[in-house]
Amino acid sequence: MKNEKSTTNNVRIIVIGAGMAGILTAIRLREYGYENFVIYEKSDRIGGTWRENTYPGLACDVPAHLYTYSFEPNPDWSSTFATGPEIYAYFERVAKKYKVIEKIRFNESIPHCEFVDGTWKIRTSTGFLDEADVVIAATGVLHHPKVADIPGLDTFAGACFHSARWDHNVELEGKRVGVVGTGSTAIQITTALVDKVGHFDLFQRTAQWVMPIKDVKYSEEEKTAFRTDAQALDALRAHIDKDFQHFANAVIDADSPEMKQIEDACAANLENNVRDAELREKLRPNYRAGCKRLIFSPNFYAAIQHPNAEVVTSGIKCIEPGGIRTEDGKLHELDVLVMATGFVADSFIRPTTVLGRGGINLDDVWSDHPIAYLSISIPEFPNFFMLNGPNGPVGNFSLIQIAESQVSFVLQLIGQIRAGECREISANAKATADFESIRAAAAKKSIWATGCNSWYLDKNGVPASWPWTPSRFFEEMASPKLESFDQIG
Ligand code: NAP
Repeated sequence: MKNEKSTTNNVRIIVIGAGMAGILTAIRLREYGYENFVIYEKSDRIGGTWRENTYPGLACDVPAHLYTYSFEPNPDWSSTFATGPEIYAYFERVAKKYKVIEKIRFNESIPHCEFVDGTWKIRTSTGFLDEADVVIAATGVLHHPKVADIPGLDTFAGACFHSARWDHNVELEGKRVGVVGTGSTAIQITTALVDKVGHFDLFQRTAQWVMPIKDVKYSEEEKTAFRTDAQALDALRAHIDKDFQHFANAVIDADSPEMKQIEDACAANLENNVRDAELREKLRPNYRAGCKRLIFSPNFYAAIQHPNAEVVTSGIKCIEPGGIRTEDGKLHELDVLVMATGFVADSFIRPTTVLGRGGINLDDVWSDHPIAYLSISIPEFPNFFMLNGPNGPVGNFSLIQIAESQVSFVLQLIGQIRAGECREISANAKATADFESIRAAAAKKSIWATGCNSWYLDKNGVPASWPWTPSRFFEEMASPKLESFDQIG
C-alpha cells in the first residue's frame, strides 16, 4: 500500500457525529493532510454518549488511562475510573486543542445520505445539501434509549425519564425514587443515590453478576509523576491494558480457565459482601457471569444494603399514577421513576436513510441483522465507513482503542482513493459473507452465548460482537487485505 502521508489531493469527507470517534477522526484526518472535511453533529455540543448521559454516578468502568486517546494522555485523571463530567471535559479539551470544533456543523443531523454517480449526497435536518467522496459514520452504538413496553408508563403522576435523558430539575432529596433495570447504568445510579433519597426501589427483572473492582484516587505525587515522566504513564497504561486483554481473551471462550476465574471472583463477591441470605438469593443470577455485560462496581452491594434501599423482584405488572404495581399485587409508591432500560443496540447510523449504489437501502441489507466486513465496510456502499459499527469489539474494553485502530484502517482505504488507485472502494460480498459466517460460528463459543438475554445478542440469538482476541482485531486493523475489497474507477 502506498505511503499516503506523502501525497495530497482534495478528497472530500463527511464525518457524522462529534463524539469520541468523530473527534478522533477529525484529528487523524488532519494529521494525514486531509483538510476538506466537515463533521455534522445533531446536538449543539460535542461529546456523544458523555453529553447524553448525565445521570448521578455516571462513570466509565474502563480504567481512565485506557479510556484515553493514545496521542493525548491525561496525567490528571482523578482516579482509576473517571466520572462522566471528567471524561466530558477531557473530550472538550482535546476537541479545542486540535481545533476540531471549527470543523463541526452543530444542530444538524443527517436524515438522508445517498450514493449517486460516484458521490455521497447528504441532506441535513435543516435542509442543507452537501456532497462528498467519503462518508465516515462515527454515530456511536448506544444512543437510542429503549422505551420499556410497560402498560401505564405514561400515566405516572411524578417525574419519569430515561437514564440517558436525566432531568436535573427534579429534586431527589427525601423523595421515593424507583429505578427500573439492573444494567451498568442502573447499578451506577443506585450507588450514587441510595443515601440521598427518602426511599430507593430497584426493580430487577434479571439479577446481575458484579465483578469487584477498586477505584483508587491518584495522589498529587502520582499525577505529578505522570506529568513529568511519560514513561511512568506509558507503563501504567501498558499494565492496565494487559489486565483488560486478559478479560477480553477470557469471554470469547466460555470454557476457558480465565473465564472460570472471573466467575469465581463474582461468586465470592456475592457470598462475601451481601450479609442477608434472602437478599443474597435475590441478587444471585441464574446464568453464568459474563454472559450479560459484566457489571464492574466497587460498591453496588454496599449500596443496595443501605436501609433506604429495596430490591423488588416481583415482575412489573403496570405503572399507575402513584407508582409501580408488581405482579404480587403490591403498589410501590414513587415520586420519581427512572427508566434505566438500556438502548436499541442495533440501530447504528439509523434512522438515517442510507442508500448505496443503485439505491440499495441499508435498512433492507440489514433486515435480518446488521453486518459489515470487519464492522467497517458494506458491499455496494462504496466509500462509506463505520466506526464502532456492527459486530465489532464492544466487550468490556476501551472503545477508544478500538476506534483508533479502525480509523487507521479507514485512512488506508481512503488512501487508495487519494493515491488515484480507485474512486470507489467497499468490501466485496464474498469477503463480507465469509467474515460474517466465521464470526457468527465463533461467537457461539463465547460466554455471551451461554443462555441469557442481553443486548449483545442479535434477533437470532447470536452474539453480535467480535468473538476473537483483541490482538487478532488489532492485527486485522493494521493493514486492509485489498483482495477483500471491490475497487472501481
Ligand atoms: P442494559 O444493560 O441494556 O440494561 C437495561 C436494564 O433494563 C436490564 O436490567 C433490563 O432487564 C431492564 N429492562 C429493560 N426493559 C425492561 C422492562 N420492560 N421491564 C423491566 N426491566 C427492563 O442498559 P444500560 O444499563 O443502560 O447499559 C447499556 C450499556 O451501556 C452497558 O452494557 C454498557 O455497555 C454501557 N454502559 C457503560 C457504562 C460504563 O461504565 N462504561 C456505564 C453505563 C452503561 P433484563 O436484563 O431482564 O433485560
